[in-house]
Amino acid sequence: MSPESFDLSACPNCGSPDLRKIRGDWAGNYRGETYTVKDLVYFACPACHEKIYPPAAIQKIREVSPAYSKRTDPRRAAPKTAA
Ligand SMILES: [Zn+2]
Repeated sequence: MSPESFDLSACPNCGSPDLRKIRGDWAGNYRGETYTVKDLVYFACPACHEKIYPPAAIQKIREVSPAYSKRTDPRRAAPKTAA
């Protein structure tokens, strides 16, 4: 299955057929730190507010999210200084 073929006709959470395909910048939060995934395609259910992420979207989130980052960013390790 190619990522582009992923489609949903009903919400897997509540069964509502009113799922909306959303494409845009997506803001995530990890341990109080926000990060943005640009141009993310996912589905949102207006009935139960569930968000459904296709495999391609999850892959994109993983590329950006600090939660999945295995490398240590040296800048992150530096002590914070007042702006
Ligand atoms: Zn729903």
